[in-house]
Amino acid sequence: MKKLIKGLHKFQKEVFPIQKNFFQGLAKGQNPEILFITCSDSRINPHLVTSADPGELFILRNAGNIIPPYSNLPTGEAATIEFAVGQLKVKDIIICGHSYCGAVEATFNLDKMVQQPILRDWLENNISPTLRLVNQNYKDLDRESLSDILLQEHVLQQLENLKTYPIINEAIAENKLVLHAWIYKFEDGDIYAYNSQEGQFENIKHY
Ligand SMILES: [Zn+2]
Repeated sequence: MKKLIKGLHKFQKEVFPIQKNFFQGLAKGQNPEILFITCSDSRINPHLVTSADPGELFILRNAGNIIPPYSNLPTGEAATIEFAVGQLKVKDIIICGHSYCGAVEATFNLDKMVQQPILRDWLENNISPTLRLVNQNYKDLDRESLSDILLQEHVLQQLENLKTYPIINEAIAENKLVLHAWIYKFEDGDIYAYNSQEGQFENIKHY
């Protein structure tokens, strides 16, 4: 915590004064064009990897970058989506998974997760169905390859889940919203985007 307070002081002394007008302007409101959905994992910094400024990304994070399919329950995910699409009128939604995701990995061994029953159910409800499909379709692959495929399929499933939200569907139908599936790799700092025409994830650095 001491390091954090020190960092806060550094921001107040060295960063804020230099861009005072910009930061004070943020008080007037926000107009982000992107809803960025990613994992709570401490190693991902959406602003850092996209070089975005404050005010540019509306961010939704949870363990495993999970968007449960639409229901009429007032979940944090649904409320955030409604605000982003209905109020802020974001133009793009990015669902960004990442390599070595603890939530994705834990889904392989949910039986061991007795100390975190809520997290266990969260993963069981939202990632286990995808794992079962991956296990059925890729029986001969080793564990590492299965992990890789589960990560990809999991992100794509969240993309499908996003489309179950009426507010998202309407915005897409009116050409006001585009959905993107990304995977960030810690190994090289690269981001892979899903190309639906090719049916595969491609390194964005080639775009
Ligand atoms: Zn994660």
